[in-house]
Amino acid sequence: MQELSIFVGGAWRRGNGDAMQSTFPADGSLNATLNAASIDDLNDAVKSAERAWRDPAWRNALPHQRAKVLHKVADIIESRVDELALMQSRDNGKPLPEARGLVLSAAGTARYFAAACELLEGELPTPRMAEVLTLSRYEPLGVVAAITPWNSPIASEMQKVAPAIAAGNAVILKPAEATPLMALELARIFEQAGLPAGLLSVLPGKGSVIGDALARHPLIRKISFTGGTTTGRHLAHVAAEKLIPASLELGGKSPTIVLEDADIEQAARGICYGIFSSAGQACIAGSRLFIHESVYQPLMARLLELTRGLRVGHPHQEGTHIGPLINEKHRKSVMDYVALAQKEGGRVLCGGEIPADPALASGSYFQPTIIDGLNYQARVCQEEIFGPVLVAMPFADEESLISEANASVYGLAAGIWTRDTGRALRLSERLEAGTVWINTYKVFAISTPFGGFKESGLGREKGIQGLKAWMQQKSIYLATGNSVNRWCD
Ligand code: ADP
Repeated sequence: MQELSIFVGGAWRRGNGDAMQSTFPADGSLNATLNAASIDDLNDAVKSAERAWRDPAWRNALPHQRAKVLHKVADIIESRVDELALMQSRDNGKPLPEARGLVLSAAGTARYFAAACELLEGELPTPRMAEVLTLSRYEPLGVVAAITPWNSPIASEMQKVAPAIAAGNAVILKPAEATPLMALELARIFEQAGLPAGLLSVLPGKGSVIGDALARHPLIRKISFTGGTTTGRHLAHVAAEKLIPASLELGGKSPTIVLEDADIEQAARGICYGIFSSAGQACIAGSRLFIHESVYQPLMARLLELTRGLRVGHPHQEGTHIGPLINEKHRKSVMDYVALAQKEGGRVLCGGEIPADPALASGSYFQPTIIDGLNYQARVCQEEIFGPVLVAMPFADEESLISEANASVYGLAAGIWTRDTGRALRLSERLEAGTVWINTYKVFAISTPFGGFKESGLGREKGIQGLKAWMQQKSIYLATGNSVNRWCD
């Protein structure tokens, strides 16, 4: 792949920061080297973003004109699915079918926000006060920051850039250190689609340097972040200091619940997908499994059988279920958690090791792992592992289930497997989670708000609300009568 640069104010240039690399997690080979953005590059990007969003040509552009750019973006993405999936997979090691899914979802996101921007309407609040008409309109915030993680770049980046642009803002995107390729390619795509210069800049670089400086920049009017809870908390402090909104999509330790009447085959397959797809590197991974004691044995037997059949392999090989973890350091952290689980008294029922296949020796692969023998308070049931590690626990009654499932600082997602949908709906109301899946898991619709309870985040992305989150409301009062104010008589 070619030597990369950074995209600032509609122009490609070499970053003035330190050299950085993107490598292929499957074998450590080099994808690209690039120079990170410097603070001067950041200042230039913000300056041109500030000019770009205020430019009357864009500011007064009609919604369908903005939508046209996003539709063009979607067209370009759809015409390059395989190529972009390959790029995504080289950047973070995702198996190709998963990467393709993300690419298609990015195109869908661009189309959804194109439509949403045309459909968005202001309001005429009621009841009306005497002799005034009030109108409420949605306006852009200005220059906004999008800071993204490495696990699903094209999808998470489009989820921020598309609504931000549809809302009339200028965006500065800071991709994760490990995965700068997709964000830079998105810049090329938006450029080709005719987005005016300055409305999107992409600044690869270290989070603690360029990400931090971006969030703190006085002209940044919103921080939208997806990543770990520690960084999210830090950015919430930065946003509080500046009194700007922060949208934070953070970690999770999501419970999956199997009730006594569940369809065992359906549940086992869904649970397997919910934790092991993306090698468990998903904030929504269903990493705590609560099974009613009456079906513990059959459910676990089928789950173990399915898990042992999963193919850990090269992400470009057909039939691979689980590719490598993002890097060696992350694999070490996942392995440390497995060792901790054993120290805490857990039994590793399958996996727990680096695969023996010599063909996989140069990548950061790890076997899908199921552990039992622990209770909900164990550290591996409380801390996010972000890898292919599932902890299974039996439960006896609904009250203890609810309190154990909710005994987490996180509240991102939950899954329920049962044939009794009424009961599932009642349970879903009691679970502290921003998303609850019933008889399915990890299924998304761009029209449906997504975000976390508790320490899993603040704010919601997706849906019409997800567009309004990039805007501010202005109320306008218009006198409809001719009465003269008598106050100064
Ligand atoms: P990870 O997802 O690797 O666990 P983070 O949540 O820290 O780690 O990373 C998500 C994104 O946040 C990345 O783009 C990263 O560079 C960025 N980031 C990390 N630290 C900071 C910071 N102090 N300020 C702003 N952005 C940061």
